[in-house]
Amino acid sequence: MSRYDFDLFVIGAGSGGVRAARVSSALGAKVAVAEERYLGGTCVNVGCVPKKLFVYASQFSTEFKTSEGYGWDVSKPGFAWERLIANKDREITRLNGVYESLLIKAGVRLVDGHASIVDAHTVKVAGQQFTAEHILIATGGWPVVPVFPGHEHIITSNDAFYLDQLPKRIIVVGGGYIAVEFAGIFHGLGVDTTLIYRGPLFLRGFDLDVRKHLALQLTDKGITLKFDSEITSIEKNENGFTATLNSGEALSAGQIMYATGRQPKSLELGLENLGVDLDENTAIAVNTHYQTSVPSIYAIGDVTNRVNLTPVALAEGNFLANQLFGNGSSPLDYENIPTCVFSQPNLATVGLTQQQAEQRYTKITIYKSMFTPMKYAISENTEQAFMKLIVDADTDHVVGAHMIGPDAGEIMQGIAVAIKCGATKASFDSTIGIHPTSAEEFVTMRDASS
Ligand code: FAD
Ligand code: NDP
Repeated sequence: MSRYDFDLFVIGAGSGGVRAARVSSALGAKVAVAEERYLGGTCVNVGCVPKKLFVYASQFSTEFKTSEGYGWDVSKPGFAWERLIANKDREITRLNGVYESLLIKAGVRLVDGHASIVDAHTVKVAGQQFTAEHILIATGGWPVVPVFPGHEHIITSNDAFYLDQLPKRIIVVGGGYIAVEFAGIFHGLGVDTTLIYRGPLFLRGFDLDVRKHLALQLTDKGITLKFDSEITSIEKNENGFTATLNSGEALSAGQIMYATGRQPKSLELGLENLGVDLDENTAIAVNTHYQTSVPSIYAIGDVTNRVNLTPVALAEGNFLANQLFGNGSSPLDYENIPTCVFSQPNLATVGLTQQQAEQRYTKITIYKSMFTPMKYAISENTEQAFMKLIVDADTDHVVGAHMIGPDAGEIMQGIAVAIKCGATKASFDSTIGIHPTSAEEFVTMRDASS
């Protein structure tokens, strides 16, 4: 008989927490999960899932336009934001139910409410205390915005999913995933969209060619990009808001959305009394086995602020459960994690950027291709796809692949498997293409650009 109520007490029923709880329970552990807000966490409620539904919704405007070149006459299509929100909400409620039944069927005890940690083996939720041999913090993150005159008027991505009505004009601030994705969503839904980013070019950390190409495509579509710009103040007026920029320019908009990053949710857990180390951004510090500075307390996912993606949180939860209650597994490999910015067009990538590869290898070879996707050949859509492969010239290994274009996210998943398996450029070249697709370009790029 264990001296604790549970073998594992998980705080947070998001991507990482639910996976760790389910797998641990399947391995025979007695598990509880506390959740204060919504089952499924950020991804299901205010992240990947509703975001992708919004991306699908907004893509129809391009599809209607493209269809004209194919002979279709589409009278001015109407759009009902309320219907999209209602259908999105219904789908999320369905998924909340799926998560609940997955946990219950797995034998996990669900505890509603805000959890805090009392000591190395005790958690408190709504006045009740539970003891556990291991405690897992999987509390995710929360949007952060700068403070300046008028900042109280802005919205974040959390609010964007629940707007009563679509504004006619929006300003989106930030240059990361969320800002770029939402600029595309609003533009596709017919909102006059301006994206403001403080640096010279958005998506810092992605390959430079790719960032430049996406900026051109978005501008061409009609999104106004203002780089090297910041809002210094916002005033409310009867039609919405007026933002004043550092250049002195004034812009009016019905909504102003800030997507300026997310902060790990670690400050309301009582950690200050326990000796759990945080970094300067309040991320919980963990070792390669997700153990914090208090050996019985672990942390995974966005609260550790390493690679803030759902599949990474899932993999970490899986690893931890196997480590604590199974036969263990090798530590996660954080190299070659594929990712997609669901901009329109998509930007997807795996492996190194050219700038990173130049630092790591003595000689690299670059292959690039830019083309009109066949779907747009007989339409007025001028969108250009872009692909880039980066090869270590000494070993012929493909060390980076990048794409902007329709379904780049779908295509890059397969390329990621190849790169994970150590594919060489010769193996890409000897792979037969699927014709006619955009993806076949990855196996037909023969002429090095440098
Ligand atoms: P979360 O999913 O955030 O779960 C944490 C849970 O803990 C929450 O349910 C929270 O309510 C709960 N909680 C917090 N504190 C407490 C407490 N004290 N007591 C009880 N419960 C608590 N990733 C992708 O891979 N692809 C995408 O397309 C994608 N799109 C995104 C779009 C947006 C707008 C956002 C914001 C994020 C997106 N992400 C995407 C990132 C992804 O959502 C996160 O990486 C992922 O959800 C992290 O999982 P997690 O388990 O660490 O935390
Ligand atoms: P990111 O960290 O990706 O980007 C934040 C952006 O805001 C950066 O461009 C940053 O600029 C800018 N910024 C930060 N502080 C300020 C400030 N004070 N004033 C003006 N600009 C500022 O955060 P997001 O919020 O976009 O997304 C959070 C994370 O969620 C992502 O990093 C990603 O891991 C995950 N996510 C994944 C998605 C996917 O997989 N498709 C989709 C959405 C989110 P600078 O670059 O100069 O620092």
